[in-house]
Amino acid sequence: MSEINLGIIGGGQLGSMLSIAAKKLNVKTIIFCDDINAPAQNFCNEFIFGKYDDSQKILEFVNKVDIITYEFENIPYETLNQINQKKRVLPKPSINRLIQHRLAEKDFVNKLNIRTTQYTSVKKKSDLDSLKDLLPGILKTTTLGYDGKGQYPIKDIKDIDKIDIDFSKEYILEKLVKLKKEISVIITRFSNNNYEIYEPIENTHEDQILKYSKIPAEVSNNLFNKSKDWAIRIAEELKYVGTLCVEFFIDRNENLYVNEIAPRVHNSGHLTINAYNISQFENHIRAVCSLEKIPLKKLSNAKMINLIGNQIEPYRKNLKLNDNEFFFDYLKKEIKDKRKMGHITTLYK
Ligand code: ADP
Ligand code: MG
Repeated sequence: MSEINLGIIGGGQLGSMLSIAAKKLNVKTIIFCDDINAPAQNFCNEFIFGKYDDSQKILEFVNKVDIITYEFENIPYETLNQINQKKRVLPKPSINRLIQHRLAEKDFVNKLNIRTTQYTSVKKKSDLDSLKDLLPGILKTTTLGYDGKGQYPIKDIKDIDKIDIDFSKEYILEKLVKLKKEISVIITRFSNNNYEIYEPIENTHEDQILKYSKIPAEVSNNLFNKSKDWAIRIAEELKYVGTLCVEFFIDRNENLYVNEIAPRVHNSGHLTINAYNISQFENHIRAVCSLEKIPLKKLSNAKMINLIGNQIEPYRKNLKLNDNEFFFDYLKKEIKDKRKMGHITTLYK
């Protein structure tokens, strides 16, 4: 078979890990990113720096590749759609448009009779006055949020006057779920009823940023199966091709809710690199490039710790790892507060 040239939009750590997985499969990666310092340029075959509205640069990128995917969801729909007229974009741009909008995403999930927290659209400040039933809650921008950015916790209606919210943007108000646990399920779908699914991963956040992930998740059999079942239904309904992650909440009464969907590989799945025969990254490449689907085999239990901000420093200086520990440095040029700099996965029995 002739060599495949895979275009990836976005050059962060997920782009790096996709590039590493692609290399193993003899797939060449060409990354397009609007960050001149994008860490994935250390791992891909070719790097193109350009803004997402620079049609000339995008054309240059599109002409070099056979197929295109992306490592983050905040790409304008128009851009993805235009690219898709020339070369196939997977997951489909319409899926990305649905999922990048928190309201559309939750409406979609509820239509499948899958539970989310209660929520409503907020377009202006006075909308909040009648929404006491959804408090305590979190006001979130409908688009462009990640790692808790663009989110305002609201305990009481009186809080609203205290926070400075830019109402030129659209918001969703979500009722706060009394969390017992958070889990995620990663699935790679190839075609109709043809997918590989990883077991649920238990996630712990600090400051709304993922800090720890582990398998097995400590959940009942019922929730173990239900979360997988919901992830499969979501992927099938979207006719998704590639790797997708569904984030879930479990409340103190053992109710399961979908929190959000990521139309891409996911931070909680970094442990699949070491804990499975095929990682979420390799499976994504296999699915979007129409390569062989190989049955998943779990090799070990695992824990992953995100290294955020200057937590990376001791590991960079004094690296002593045991055989069951795997350190990954994203090679980001600058250490920043709340920035994901690397991770460590530990395998255990
Ligand atoms: P992001 O796009 O930043 O990942 P999320 O909606 O997943 O946004 O929110 C990040 C984290 O904040 C969640 O993983 C959870 O810990 C907390 N959180 C968000 N929304 C809620 C909610 N409605 N109830 C309880 N916790 C929430
Ligand atoms: Mg999230």
